[in-house]
Amino acid sequence: MREERNVKTVVFDLDGTLYDKRGLAGRMVRRLWWCLPLLAAERLARRNAHYVQFASEEEFFAFFFASMARGHWWTASIAEKWYHLVYMPAMVRLISKTCKPRPEALRLLDECSQKGLQTAVYSDYGCVVQKLEALGIDPKQFDLLVSAPELGALKPSEHCARQVLEMLGAEARTTLFVGDRDDKDGASARAVGAQFLLLAPEN
Ligand SMILES: [Mg+2]
Repeated sequence: MREERNVKTVVFDLDGTLYDKRGLAGRMVRRLWWCLPLLAAERLARRNAHYVQFASEEEFFAFFFASMARGHWWTASIAEKWYHLVYMPAMVRLISKTCKPRPEALRLLDECSQKGLQTAVYSDYGCVVQKLEALGIDPKQFDLLVSAPELGALKPSEHCARQVLEMLGAEARTTLFVGDRDDKDGASARAVGAQFLLLAPEN
């Protein structure tokens, strides 16, 4: 955080930022080969939900699972069960077995702790606590754990990013968003006038 100014709060993205997620998508496909059409439907539903702001988590997921079921034999209710009972648990298990925290992220977390900065994890997916525990990162060290869908949208929703600041009681100008995606995390920061540090994916 050498170039960032007067930072009091640091908002970390999770996937790809706190851990190296290279190869995870391919491993998910190999693990869940028996439900590839559902995996594909999940990707499409995410794309459909981009840039749509919902009033609540319930409305977001109602749209999301209806979108997953559109044109398929399965219902939104089946998609919902698959997502919560198969897809997310498989992702957490694979993170636990095959992913490591990014050293630069751990250094930043350490720096935050030493400087007494307020910290948060703001993810585009759920299961934030389970993923942090799978990585051996203590969830209790953060002041806030939240996902964008809980706030009714996906990144880079301005409304959600603003809610994160409000939940933290933080000012945008003294808040630093840290993420691996400029189009999601960087855009979230810019939408509310916060600072941004790109932890670009390793090659
Ligand atoms: Mg990310």
